[in-house]
Order: sequence, then C-alpha cells, then structure tokens
Amino acid sequence: MFEDELDKLERLNLLRSLKIIDTAQSSRVTINGREVILLSSNNYLGLANHPKLKKAAIEAVKEYGVGSGASRLISGNMRLHEELEERIARFKKTESALIFNSGYTANTGIIPAIVGEGDVIFSDELNHASIIDGCRLSKAEIKVYPHKDVNFLEDILKKENRTNKRLIITDSVFSMDGDIAPLLELYRIAERYSAMLMVDEAHATGVLGDSGRGAVEYLGLEGKRIIQMGTLSKALGCFGGYIAGEKNLIRYLVNRARSFIYTTSLPPSVVASAIAAFDVIEEDPSIIRRLWRNRRLYVEGLKNLDMDIGETETPIVPIMVSKPDEAVVFAESLFERGIYAPAIRPPTVPSGKSRIRTTITAEHTEEDIKEALSIIEEVIKGI
Ligand code: PMP
Repeated sequence: MFEDELDKLERLNLLRSLKIIDTAQSSRVTINGREVILLSSNNYLGLANHPKLKKAAIEAVKEYGVGSGASRLISGNMRLHEELEERIARFKKTESALIFNSGYTANTGIIPAIVGEGDVIFSDELNHASIIDGCRLSKAEIKVYPHKDVNFLEDILKKENRTNKRLIITDSVFSMDGDIAPLLELYRIAERYSAMLMVDEAHATGVLGDSGRGAVEYLGLEGKRIIQMGTLSKALGCFGGYIAGEKNLIRYLVNRARSFIYTTSLPPSVVASAIAAFDVIEEDPSIIRRLWRNRRLYVEGLKNLDMDIGETETPIVPIMVSKPDEAVVFAESLFERGIYAPAIRPPTVPSGKSRIRTTITAEHTEEDIKEALSIIEEVIKGI
C-alpha cells in the first residue's frame, strides 16, 4: 500500500526526502561532504549557533539536567519556564504569556481551546498548516477567506448572525510568500463584528518592528486586543512556541489547551537558550537591521535578474517556478552549484504555485549574497 502511494508521489514529482546537514546552522553548511550556501533557513538572526545561547544551554544542563520530568501541571514547571514566560510577556508588551512545546502545538492547542462546536473561524486561505490543523481540531465551522481579502471577510462576517464566538485568524507574515497580513484592517473588522483576532507571528518575531516584536509592533498595534502566537524556533534560534495576551486568557489556556496540559514541558536547556535569545535581541537590535540590509541587497539582485518573487515584503523570498518538476530541477541545479534551498510543492503551496522558497538571514555576508545571486543567474540561464 505504501509503495503504491510513494510511487504515485514520485511520478507526480511530489515525493519528499530528507537532506542531512553535517554542520551547525549557519549561512553556509556542509551537506553530503560539500559546503553550500544555506538559503532556506528560518534562523533569520543567526542565533541558532550563537555563543551566548549555547553557553546558557550548557549552564542549564549542568545545573538542572537534560529533562524536565513531567508536564507543567504535574512537576515539570521549573523556575526557568516561568522566567521565559515573563520575558516573552515583557518583550511582547502583554499582561502574560504561555510557552508551548512548539509553534505547531501552540496552534493546535490554542485554537480548539478558545473556539468549539457552534463557533465560527474566519481563516486566510494561505494560513500555515498548524493553524489549519488547530481549526479542524476545534470542530468550529471554518470559513476560509481569499488571501488578505478584507472586503470578502467583512461581507461574510456581516452575514454571520449567530451569536456564538467568532475568531479571525491569520499568519502575520505568510510563511511561503513572505507578505504581511493587513492587521490594522483585520483588527478594525474584528472590533466591528465582535470577533477575536489571533495572529501567528512565527516569521515576524525578531524580524519585523524596530525592536523585533513582530507585525503587531511594525503596524503600531501594540496594546490592542490581539492574541499573539509565535515560535521560539525561527528568528530566536531555539525551539518552542508561545502565546502572549491577557492574563485570563493565559490562565484559561493552562486549564484548557490539551497540547499544553498533556505533554512533558520543554527541557531546561532549551528554555534557558530562549531567554538568552531575548537578551541578545534586546541588547543589540542592530542584528535586525543587518537582516534587513541583507534582504535589500538580495532582493535588489533578484529583481535585476527579472525573477518573479511574488509579493514578498520580508526575508522570505520565493522564486516562483509554477510546476513541481520545474521546481525540483531548479533546486537540484542550485544544489549542484552550491546553494541549498529546496523545492516547495503542493500540498505546502497551492497547485501551480511551486517555488523555491529562499530566505536571507543576518548571518549571510555580502560575499554569500553576491555568490548566491551569481549562482541563481547561472541556473536560470542554463534552464
Ligand atoms: N506557524 C507558522 C506560520 C510557521 O511557519 C510554523 C513553522 N513552519 C509554525 C507555526 C510552527 O512552528 P514550530 O516550527 O515552532 O512548530
């Protein structure tokens, strides 16, 4: 049975396999014994191998060991977990925060806890899979609106006359396209129609806003009633997910979010390194400016090459290819010449929208970027 399914995926050029990285996450990594420019990591600020984060993890292992031993509500709630939550709330300027074991489990825990049968979710068509799964688990009715189409959203909300809970949910930076959600309009609509607004700041935290607080900071929406979810695994370089919001929401989730309640808490080393990540960003926000300088350089280069990079506004820069087989050939040619950026195909992106999802980080040097651009140019000329 599995063989048939795998053969089918292979025939459609949709079979995925794993590449093994032999070195630490950085702007260049070794794969199959070859050094390549890494152009697909979400380690936007280069913190995944940062000495301060590593030191914090090592010290936490020495003092607290490697495992937390139980879930938070049993005996796995260590002082470090509480400290990280205080840091997240302070960083996000919210009353309170709660950590989850990943961004994925945050979305699949939070959404079914705050809405359920009889409620309605309004979800952007390009929302991340973890949001989609959270929506499905909730048993609420799901109304998917066209990407960023606030007029469409308002129309369907207008027609919705049930009195039950409504939730508008969106990525703030869309993970495969790198564009930014119209949060101000979404916030106004949420207020007008008494809906909750939840944003997934996975690719915005540490990236958008002068201090890296995310799209909510970037768009001047701090202090508004917005449920902010995010991850510690991308720009913060570590692992884990979080939600930041009002105190009572957090207290409620401690009692109701199944992916929070029924799992062992994050290991102390991971938590300690995440705290150190906030230290680094707060002490030296210039790394965020470096990320944006690199992004400018890279995008200008791609535009000079006449590449179709969609509507990106962030360090996520898709190179649109369309068919899955073309995307695979493109990715292979890039790899042969020294860039690792895999093909992204359905079901991760809609059919006809296969692409190479490239990302730029603060760690890339000017030389890395120039070399990457010249490899991309060679590949497009050769295809
Ligand atoms: N939300 C979005 C928008 C994401 O891109 C991702 C990760 N790909 C997640 C949530 C899940 O986060 P994590 O990797 O921490 O599980």
